[in-house]
Amino acid sequence: MAHKITLIPGDGIGPEVTEAARKCIEATGVEIDWEEAYAGAEAKAEFGELLPRKTLDSIKKNKVALKGPIETPIGEGFRSVNVAIRHALDLYACLRPAKSYPGVKSPYKDIDLVVVRENSEDLYAGIEFEKGKPETREIIRKIDACAEKTIRPDSGISIKPISEFASKRIVKFAFEYALKNKRRKITAIHKANIMKFTDGLFLKCAREVAGEYAGKIIFEEALIDNMSMQLVQKPNNYDVLVLPNLYGDIISDLCAGLVGGLGVAPGANFGDEAAVFEAVHGSAPKYKGKNKVNPTAMILSGMLMLKYIGEEKAAARLEDAVGAVLAEGKSVTYDLKPNRDDPAAAGTQEMAEAIIKKIK
Ligand code: NAD
Repeated sequence: MAHKITLIPGDGIGPEVTEAARKCIEATGVEIDWEEAYAGAEAKAEFGELLPRKTLDSIKKNKVALKGPIETPIGEGFRSVNVAIRHALDLYACLRPAKSYPGVKSPYKDIDLVVVRENSEDLYAGIEFEKGKPETREIIRKIDACAEKTIRPDSGISIKPISEFASKRIVKFAFEYALKNKRRKITAIHKANIMKFTDGLFLKCAREVAGEYAGKIIFEEALIDNMSMQLVQKPNNYDVLVLPNLYGDIISDLCAGLVGGLGVAPGANFGDEAAVFEAVHGSAPKYKGKNKVNPTAMILSGMLMLKYIGEEKAAARLEDAVGAVLAEGKSVTYDLKPNRDDPAAAGTQEMAEAIIKKIK
């Protein structure tokens, strides 16, 4: 039976890269019944809102979506459509693998890291108080009254909630992912020496959950500052990294940089009820409609999706085909050419066609 999957083309380069990914996924022979749904500019034009209820309902019903990047127009009420989707569907785990593919220019070879980022809380919870507002002054007054430290009255405030529930949930997710994917080690990353009640709680939860997996997977802890240096110097020492939201966002971009950048960085967001697969990159509006950008990140996100829906063999065949085209270095987009102005660079769809030809 065909898998029913929601397809969200997205904004900017989104429609081009999702089209390339759709073609490559279909070329594996896996039968998919796509249900197109809209979010972003197209949704705004057609339905008058950036994130229509219909789109969320489609993802909830199908439980799996492949999503192009979505631009968030400034001053439209939403902090970000992407964050709104994650919150509405409680997609609490963001998975970002960073893997070296021969042929992709990068500072290292043989990197195979997986970043598991908590997606629902931390400084990204969106609880903020603007400098000078009455409620901000009130909060500062209350904090000054109950803490031994004072906050400067001309401060803006962002709240960093870290809960036991979300911390245990994300670390458990990381361990289950590691077991299922035969990974060897998990490193929990934090700054518990400074933020004792938030990162400290995250670390305590990580230790507790790790105890349940003792003997199955190695567990390590690292401070975020030290980890940033270690990842640049000795990335091969690490395997699966689990982090609270903000550190996860930063470290996953660092890891993407270790393996060749945004053009090749796939991602996925998981909840208990749904999963949304998307590239790490955004809508790169200046390249919109130019058939120029690299479709690899989106195609590899599709590969992760195939794995998730139980089509592991098709996923492996697709990944091999992507690897073969990257290694050959001929039919690749401008960003993967030694000279970015190379007139022989392939377009987005041409690279996808080259990948399709290599699917065995
Ligand atoms: P971006 O990732 O869209 O682009 C930054 C630069 O990276 C581009 O100018 C381009 O040089 C390069 N790049 C990105 N994707 C590429 C690809 N596939 N191939 C080759 N080069 C590529 O980041 P931005 O400019 O900060 O954001 C643009 C818009 O995208 C913003 O509105 C932002 O909110 C949104 N965004 C959406 C998502 C998402 O939907 N998940 C993620 C990040 C940003």
